[in-house]
Amino acid sequence: MLVIMGRKRRKVIKVFKKTLPKILSCPKCGNISLILERSSEDTATIKCGMCKLIVKYPAPKRRETIDVYNEFVDKVHRGEIQI
Ligand SMILES: [Zn+2]
Repeated sequence: MLVIMGRKRRKVIKVFKKTLPKILSCPKCGNISLILERSSEDTATIKCGMCKLIVKYPAPKRRETIDVYNEFVDKVHRGEIQI
């Protein structure tokens, strides 16, 4: 087997900025009308434009918005958060 070692690797500049959906689906009314706003360093406000759901949710700065959203939806489904 021929293995070519030491091939010059091209520098790949990775762009970590993910394109997040701006509007998410609401676990309460099911419409794609939910937005997650970072209201402070460690809190996010989850708001739905259709059913007027407003929930403050802990969101440490280093966490991705989408992770916070996923966790929130999960907790709603498990009944840990009443909406
Ligand atoms: Zn809603």
